[in-house]
Amino acid sequence: MDFLIASSTENLCNLLAEDPTRQLLAGGTDFMVEVNFRHRDISGVIAIDRIKELKQWRHDGDSVLIGSCVTYKEIEQGPLSALIPALAQSARTIGSPQIRNAGTIGGNLATASPAGDMIPVLLALGAEVNVRSKSKVRQLRIDELITGVKVNSLSEDEFIESIRVPVLSGPQEFLKVGPRNAMVISVTSLAMVTDIEKKYIGIALGSVSASPCRSDEAEYFISQHIDWDSMTVQSDVIENFERLVKESASPIDDHRSSSSYRTHTVGVLARRALLRIFRLGI
Ligand SMILES: Cc1cc2nc3c(=O)[nH]c(=O)nc-3n(C[C@H](O)[C@H](O)[C@H](O)COP(=O)(O)OP(=O)(O)OC[C@H]3O[C@@H](n4cnc5c(N)ncnc54)[C@H](O)[C@@H]3O)c2cc1C
Repeated sequence: MDFLIASSTENLCNLLAEDPTRQLLAGGTDFMVEVNFRHRDISGVIAIDRIKELKQWRHDGDSVLIGSCVTYKEIEQGPLSALIPALAQSARTIGSPQIRNAGTIGGNLATASPAGDMIPVLLALGAEVNVRSKSKVRQLRIDELITGVKVNSLSEDEFIESIRVPVLSGPQEFLKVGPRNAMVISVTSLAMVTDIEKKYIGIALGSVSASPCRSDEAEYFISQHIDWDSMTVQSDVIENFERLVKESASPIDDHRSSSSYRTHTVGVLARRALLRIFRLGI
């Protein structure tokens, strides 16, 4: 098997154009699990974790441009965590310190798991993914990139170069339910982000549908019932809000949870996130 180490994004474009069946290895935290279980047929591998451009991030106008090989460790702390607090909260819940040292945001998106913890946050924030190959560059919304359970819309010669994440002007929350506090795949997760200037509230759910989904109706309903000046919400709208969030989920029964428990917990997370961000009005 070929094992190649890409030195730059240019070099990566060429290596993929030469042979698009080559598979990308970033932190290896999903890839190597599949190799160990013999779920992957591999003829060639390109390691991308040494490409400098992919390991960097920068503040760019009213957004942050995050290279696909930026790790959870970098997202969970420091300046990035202040700019995108819900992404940092989500990163802190992922695996163990060893996994967070190696695992990358690009790998989480490309794996496209319904339980991928970065994905609801990026969806709620309206992030865009910059995808590149030798012949073209394109921008995809998260729901255009992730099209099903562990299915993405990348063609064989494409890779995720970076993710453009809007910087919003309000509080954010990421909450996750699992059988314990650490080293756990989400039974359900919820991201809630706000922009006080734009009077925007974004809500997305993980592990309750084939791919993480938005709660559009709940977003619209609650944004009509928030007093943005005092950052308060009236108690009599919360039950309806919780119902709308639950209705946006379409969970299944599996080895991690029953669908009814998932529906219940997503309602609890919605109420909890709402009341962490907004005070109860009198
Ligand atoms: C013990 C353990 C605990 C975990 N806990 C969690 C958890 O709590 N929450 C969670 O969400 N995940 C968890 N994971 C999963 C994993 O850490 C993440 O999905 C991680 O983000 C994958 O990134 P990576 O860099 O390791 O990707 P890799 O494993 O290197 O690659 C994963 C897939 O993405 C592709 N890929 C990687 N980078 C790119 C790119 N730039 N462009 C196109 N394709 C690319 C690869 O070809 C491969 O198909 C856990 C994993 C382990 C082993």
